[in-house]
Amino acid sequence: NSVIGIVGGGQLGRMSAMAAARLGFRTRVLASDPDDPAVQVAHDATIGAYDDPTALRQFAEAVDVITFEFENVSADGLDLLSAIRPVRPSGLILRVSQDREREKTFLGDAGVAVAPWRLVTDSENLRAAADELGYPFILKTTRLGYDGKGQKRIASPDELQAAFDALEPKPLVAEGMVDFAMEISVMVARGVDGTVRCFDPTENRHRNGILDLSLAPARITDETAAKARDIAERIATSLDLVGIMGVEMFVAANGGLLVNEIAPRPHNSGHWTMDACVIDQFAMHVRAVTGLPLLEPTRHSDAVMKNLIGPTDMALWPRILGTPGFIPHLYGKDEAREGRKMGHVNMLFPRGGMPGEFGVQARLDFLAVQDDGKD
Ligand code: ATP
Ligand code: MG
Ligand code: MG
Repeated sequence: NSVIGIVGGGQLGRMSAMAAARLGFRTRVLASDPDDPAVQVAHDATIGAYDDPTALRQFAEAVDVITFEFENVSADGLDLLSAIRPVRPSGLILRVSQDREREKTFLGDAGVAVAPWRLVTDSENLRAAADELGYPFILKTTRLGYDGKGQKRIASPDELQAAFDALEPKPLVAEGMVDFAMEISVMVARGVDGTVRCFDPTENRHRNGILDLSLAPARITDETAAKARDIAERIATSLDLVGIMGVEMFVAANGGLLVNEIAPRPHNSGHWTMDACVIDQFAMHVRAVTGLPLLEPTRHSDAVMKNLIGPTDMALWPRILGTPGFIPHLYGKDEAREGRKMGHVNMLFPRGGMPGEFGVQARLDFLAVQDDGKD
């Protein structure tokens, strides 16, 4: 039984390793800390820095195929890994997704609509970008941003310089503000043989820049859903993806779609698939990178996924555990720091019976009761 190498020790690696184990594979995780969530469940681990050639080499030589849950491996690191074992998805895809300038350029070239954007390298072209995009707009680092970190919303010219100075590393991109009706994402998988599979589009709601809720299916028309799948499949195919990828999109009021960003790995907004589909995003990913058949990921239930973030949401844990129909997932992190993703809960509904705002809201309200300290 072959060994899948997973770069990154976080919860996405943990859940990938668990899916791999169910299919009879062993996993080795490359992580910086022996307590990391993925290390706790993997068969083996290489503990070292993601930019340490010795650690990368040792890791690669001990596995049969390499995949990622962590996207920010350096170009040199990716080259080193690729020289030793098959890397899926390819280093090329990671280089596109880890850099917003390359990502937006690639998407534009592939004929996919994105928000208007400008590369910003100094105060002068920042001013020019602001004039062209208008206010408000969003300034983002091209690299290393996540959970809304590494970006600022700019409402007026007097905020320009401070925002430019504060955001690191440079360069930056300036993005026109999209007046979206909804945010959605599509999880798309592609196999070694080019087979493409799409999960149903998911509706995403953020709180403080962090994903809070995912609703599946997204409450969009069949036509918009078909367009969203088509875009995700087009991106996967143009990148020659092998593995799974999350494609984040904005839905305009008229149903038009703009792609926000891509993540060539399992994605937080795909966690609902773990309990509501015949095959989940992690199993699909493992199958894709090992060359196993990719099945149609039929959704047997509607679902709401709630992220459990920091100490506030973890206060809900006893209630979540005690509620039938709530399916809890914890990542094995010791310290519930503010803003830290500790786990998630999937709430299932009969397929096609997604009970509008009331049913969803009722369950969320139910969870929130404990916030008052009444229990
Ligand atoms: P992630 O954790 O998803 O990787 P990130 O830090 O890479 O997040 P983005 O996904 O680019 O950041 O942006 C975070 C959120 O900010 C988006 O989901 C959206 O709600 C909002 N946002 C980002 N860009 C725009 C935009 N151009 N117009 C309107 N809202 C935006
Ligand atoms: Mg991102
Ligand atoms: Mg995002």
